Amino acid sequence: MAMSTDSVPALPDLSHLPHVVIIGGGFGGIAVAKGLAKKDVRVTIVDQHNFHTFSPLLYQVATAQLEPAEVAYPIRTIFGKSMNVNVRHAKVRGVDHARNVIHLENGKEMAYDHLVIATGASASYFGIPGASTYAMPLYSLADARKLRNRLLLALEEADAAAEESPMSLNFVIVGGGPTGVETSGALSELIRTVIRRDGLRIDPSRMRVLLVDMAPRLLTPFPEKASSYALKELEHMGVEIEFGRSVVEVEEHAIRFADGERLQVAAVIWAAGVTAGGSIADSLGGAPGPGGRVRVNTDLRLLESENIWAVGDAAAVPSGEGMFCPQLAPVAMQTGRHCAAQILRVENNEPTKPFTYKNKGIMATIGRHRAVATLPRGPVISGFLGWLAWLGLHLWYLVGFRNRLRVMMNWTWRYFDWPSGPRIIVADAETAD
Ligand SMILES: Cc1cc2nc3c(=O)[nH]c(=O)nc-3n(C[C@H](O)[C@H](O)[C@H](O)COP(=O)(O)OP(=O)(O)OC[C@H]3O[C@@H](n4cnc5c(N)ncnc54)[C@H](O)[C@@H]3O)c2cc1C
Repeated sequence: MAMSTDSVPALPDLSHLPHVVIIGGGFGGIAVAKGLAKKDVRVTIVDQHNFHTFSPLLYQVATAQLEPAEVAYPIRTIFGKSMNVNVRHAKVRGVDHARNVIHLENGKEMAYDHLVIATGASASYFGIPGASTYAMPLYSLADARKLRNRLLLALEEADAAAEESPMSLNFVIVGGGPTGVETSGALSELIRTVIRRDGLRIDPSRMRVLLVDMAPRLLTPFPEKASSYALKELEHMGVEIEFGRSVVEVEEHAIRFADGERLQVAAVIWAAGVTAGGSIADSLGGAPGPGGRVRVNTDLRLLESENIWAVGDAAAVPSGEGMFCPQLAPVAMQTGRHCAAQILRVENNEPTKPFTYKNKGIMATIGRHRAVATLPRGPVISGFLGWLAWLGLHLWYLVGFRNRLRVMMNWTWRYFDWPSGPRIIVADAETAD
């Protein structure tokens, strides 16, 4: 029987309105679309995933504290009530700026009047042999799920070998920025939990969580005080930290350092840096900016373009002489909002305005009840207070009331009963996929 369409309102014909195509439904792309919702433009968000990912909590998915669905939200649901915002689930292959069309991976084209590049960034392997094949990045929900499977499978393997020949497991995290710090702390807690709570027969002295960085301190964008605090707390949690170490090769089960050491590993987690380079940036022409980012003017339009804009991690947004905004969620949201306002100004024949970043500070968690937060004018909040600030902010920005509620309930539950996380291996035992 055909479905009744009685209650479905007819979609209005908006084809006469200027078409704004946004590539990417991350923090930046969503902010652009929100700024254009219910305005006199037609918007299409094109994303390779049908959901928005809350990346700051991916490490909690990877270390079995949150479920994937708790940090993702369908893009269509965000704009369900905005008749002028549509979503296309597709991967974009390139841009033909001379013809004002984008090419989708399925061979189709989509025409635009304004194009917004909001494609974010991905892991940068700096050409280190084997890194892109064997190291595990943490940049998408699929990465987080895969890493969780790998970690849990390695622990199961160690348990199975316990009686005959006890195994040693080395987990190496490359990069001491916020992602490396958060992941290593959470991983160390996961290992202690499976031993204490799940009865895995693993000798804790054979489990190593090693965080390596070429830099001389952790969390380099933070003040020294925050770095020392993070170092002290992570060491207290059993994470080994080695500075000044550079990786020269990653193999399937080993990592090699510049000093010649070759270490057998259960997993190498890659948190060493990001790049925005790739097919879309390349098809735009022009010299790429720092980290492969697209160079934009202060109004966020591409250099020498009237109708192509870039926001968030994909954009090299000027913040002073030779300086650029950091690749952070608040920058993506603020550039997204600004970009939407400028597109409307152009459509109204008004001059555009320059973007200025309002620094909201940065923060990182260390374990489950500690965090460091650096406020815009310098003061550092650390410990439990910092963690409360981190908690409040992340809940506030998490998309969707249901997700907020579920995450808040989970965090509260685990505050009192930490070991209750979803330690489920949803994978083929051989491939971990
Ligand atoms: C693990 C991790 C932890 C982080 N923690 C923090 C934090 O604590 N605080 C903070 O401020 N920032 C944090 N960040 C950085 C923050 O997530 C980014 O700055 C922010 O996501 C950038 O937003 P964006 O919209 O530019 O890109 P993204 O949010 O990455 O979104 C890009 C979107 O583009 C889509 N896309 C890409 N290429 C294509 C294509 N070819 N075709 C179709 N779609 C495409 C992707 O699917 C994605 O949905 C973290 C990042 C990671 C990875």
